[in-house]
Amino acid sequence: MPFFTIPNKGFEQGMLLEKLLLNVLIVLSPILVYTAFGDRIKKALSPFSIGLVQGAASSLCLIFSYEALNLYWDLRYVPLVITTVYAGPVAGVINYLFILGTRTYLNGNALHFGYISITLTFLGTLYLSRFTKNRSGRDRLRRVVLISVVPSLIMLIIMLSYTLINDVKSPAHFNPFVAVLFFGALETLGTWLPAMLLEFNNERSSMKEEILRAEKLKTLGGVAASMAHEIRNPLTAVQGFLQLIRANNYDRKTRDYLQIALDELERAESVINDYLSFSKPKLTHFESFCLVELIRNIITMLTPVSSCKGIEFQCRFKGPLYIYTDRGQLQQALTNVIKNAVEASSENSVVQISLSLQGSQVELKIIDSGKGMTKEEIQRIGTLFYTTKEKGTGLGTSVAVRIIEAMKGNILYESEKGKGTVCIISLPLEAEQLANTN
Ligand code: ADP
Ligand code: MG
Repeated sequence: MPFFTIPNKGFEQGMLLEKLLLNVLIVLSPILVYTAFGDRIKKALSPFSIGLVQGAASSLCLIFSYEALNLYWDLRYVPLVITTVYAGPVAGVINYLFILGTRTYLNGNALHFGYISITLTFLGTLYLSRFTKNRSGRDRLRRVVLISVVPSLIMLIIMLSYTLINDVKSPAHFNPFVAVLFFGALETLGTWLPAMLLEFNNERSSMKEEILRAEKLKTLGGVAASMAHEIRNPLTAVQGFLQLIRANNYDRKTRDYLQIALDELERAESVINDYLSFSKPKLTHFESFCLVELIRNIITMLTPVSSCKGIEFQCRFKGPLYIYTDRGQLQQALTNVIKNAVEASSENSVVQISLSLQGSQVELKIIDSGKGMTKEEIQRIGTLFYTTKEKGTGLGTSVAVRIIEAMKGNILYESEKGKGTVCIISLPLEAEQLANTN
């Protein structure tokens, strides 16, 4: 059965098409503006301003809606779904209030049914929007499209209840089921389009950020390489002479001062090494070596730092585990991570290090019961120059991540504020093929 067969066919269908097209334009306009000027208007975007703009779009949809069966047929819920999912509950509530206000202003028939429909749709969307969090672009888009079916379902239920309770007869030319189906499809399409544009925009911004990061790394790499060579040699000379001076029998105070100078020189050297790792993105000296031995060496190296705080290392290793990669680079990466665990730990606590085999991967866990991190802090860890320490450089984890990833491995942090952190590093056990790929 055709959707509409109206006597004054040309006029009615023309009106319907005009209103629908206007509705599509209304819901798309804010998104198109955002796509075109997103970077420039980013600062003005807040849940409040988004709620206002999208709320206005919903109101306009309602004002230009098509009236049939004493109900308004329009795309008012498209901005509501988009806003609630992408800008959060505050923006969603503002959008909801706009729809409620406009519906009250327009008054018309079935006002109470309108209120119920609007509220149910909003609550349904709000509840389901939780399942779109932390999803990849495509997955989120699929879920948003599924959510957009909610308003149509509620509309169907409300329309059936309304026609039943009020004994409203559908006009001969109007089939309510076909109408709901048609509007449902339109609503879904109307939601998919702006959601797709938003996802496209998000992808573009993260690509832009990635390019900027790569540029930053490239510049840093160049500067680091030239700086490191210039500074390293005089540093080594100073270090040697200080050690010679220390060999003489000076009084205790002078020896303490010399020790501080040597410690600081060592710190400067490790910073230079971290910078150098950025200028040497490729692994060069491949060799087969025992990971257990490497970790023991690192622990010995870190003992002066850990014993100062009374921190004990507890190791759980099962047998020798040989891997084939760049030993020097891996040592640097693991030193940075283990050192962070020591630095985060409170006095007289334990840092656990365990090694185990997981299929073709070797899994290294570094567990501390130190200060831990919030979710936001975990997200920022590994970002170049991110540090919360007074004397920190924010290089250690970035270098570790870069090295582990170059080794086709993986590094992951789990943490709880105040309770401690677990760093899980997995590396391919059989890494001969790495030599060919790098
Ligand atoms: P830096 O050590 O110079 O601050 P890093 O890149 O090594 O730089 O670490 C960045 C930040 O990540 C640290 O300042 C710290 O806040 C956090 N962090 C790293 N490891 C841990 C850990 N095991 N526990 C708590 N916070 C950590
Ligand atoms: Mg560090």
